[in-house]
Amino acid sequence: KSRNFDVVVLGAGAAGLFCAAEAGRRGRRVLVVDHARAPGEKIRISGGGRCNFTNIHASPGNFLSANPHFCISALKRFTAADFVARVDARGIAWHEKKLGQLFCDGPATQIVAMLTDDLAGTGGTLELATSVEDVARRPDGFDIRLSSGPVACSSLVIATGGKSIPRMGATGFAYRVAEQFGLAVTETRPGLVPLTFEPNLRERIAPLAGVSADARVSGGDTAFDEALLFTHRGLSGPAILQVSSYWREGDAIAVDLAPGIDIFAELRAARRSSGRQEAQTVLSRYLPRALAQFVVAEAGMAGPVAERNDAALRRLAELVHDWQVKPAGSEGYRTAEVTLGGVDTAGLDQKTMEAKSVPGLHFIGEAVDVTGWLGGYNFQWAWSSGWAAGQAV
Ligand code: FAD
Repeated sequence: KSRNFDVVVLGAGAAGLFCAAEAGRRGRRVLVVDHARAPGEKIRISGGGRCNFTNIHASPGNFLSANPHFCISALKRFTAADFVARVDARGIAWHEKKLGQLFCDGPATQIVAMLTDDLAGTGGTLELATSVEDVARRPDGFDIRLSSGPVACSSLVIATGGKSIPRMGATGFAYRVAEQFGLAVTETRPGLVPLTFEPNLRERIAPLAGVSADARVSGGDTAFDEALLFTHRGLSGPAILQVSSYWREGDAIAVDLAPGIDIFAELRAARRSSGRQEAQTVLSRYLPRALAQFVVAEAGMAGPVAERNDAALRRLAELVHDWQVKPAGSEGYRTAEVTLGGVDTAGLDQKTMEAKSVPGLHFIGEAVDVTGWLGGYNFQWAWSSGWAAGQAV
């Protein structure tokens, strides 16, 4: 006595809800299942409660994946502008904060309500507080055992997200389903996450907790010009979250604490004009005072600039412009905004998100090995990949 649906979507997050409504619009009978009590919980808390729902500059270069080309098709077929049109049609007011990041003027729950209303409007069913006990394939579809009873469907969409923030219901479910059906999963790790230092360095930066600075932070070939924030355990702030997605254990990151300023020239000029100034006083024209103090202490260069030769001043300037710091680790999935890696895109069709080897099985959203930068890109991937699957199921 299975209940029958055309499409079952597991996961009522951004990608799952959006995909389900798209399929519903096409006349499919859709069931969305989530083990959480409320849908779209990450949307609700995202962007500080205002949901940075897309980025108008979203393009493939803003995404990490073992195959950087995989995301192109979906991002092109359902763009940031397409999502903005949905938000406008719904009458949700928004603004651009910076760098193309679009936020709701009001609470993020407006986005959740838009998605659930769209789903309900197409006759779709949303079942919350329901766990998935088993998924099995049959000749023309899938049998799914839910805590509420068995259901059958011809298309199954896995939209259960990644491992970030287990406290909010994140599980490795999508990866287990992928493996069950013989699909590869690339290595997963926390992304958009604060980085932590070893105890010795942690102690030295302790007085800086709460200090922020506009910096350029690079990891490998990728650099981000954004704010950096010192924490009790290491570094955070947008610049660090961005670079964390590129960081690997053992790597150093390069921090320019005064991008665009020639600190060496400033130190020399200070030595010429009033040599009795402390190096720290000069630096604190460009850096927060506590940070200037830290840099001078790290360089062992307290005292008047007049006492320093060019080589010493250059060393100090180098520390400001190219602080090479080796994080010991990250804060992990507990606080990571996303999960890097996931269902290997090599096994998926980029137009439909369908598993090449398992007709009818689709993976969308964060579960897939496509991860965006900070700034609305991850939701855009959820919409684009959800839309792509929604046209195909
Ligand atoms: P999710 O939204 O995580 O949805 C997955 C759903 O599946 C959840 O409802 C979960 O309960 C359910 N589920 C999981 N396991 C199971 C299971 N075994 N059985 C049944 N259901 C299950 N991105 C942006 O673009 N802009 C932002 O402003 C932004 N802010 C963020 C802030 C925070 C604090 C966090 C953590 C993330 C933020 N992100 C942001 C990232 C963004 O939230 C995610 O990339 C996005 O939600 C992924 O969508 P998804 O639908 O794939 O997965």
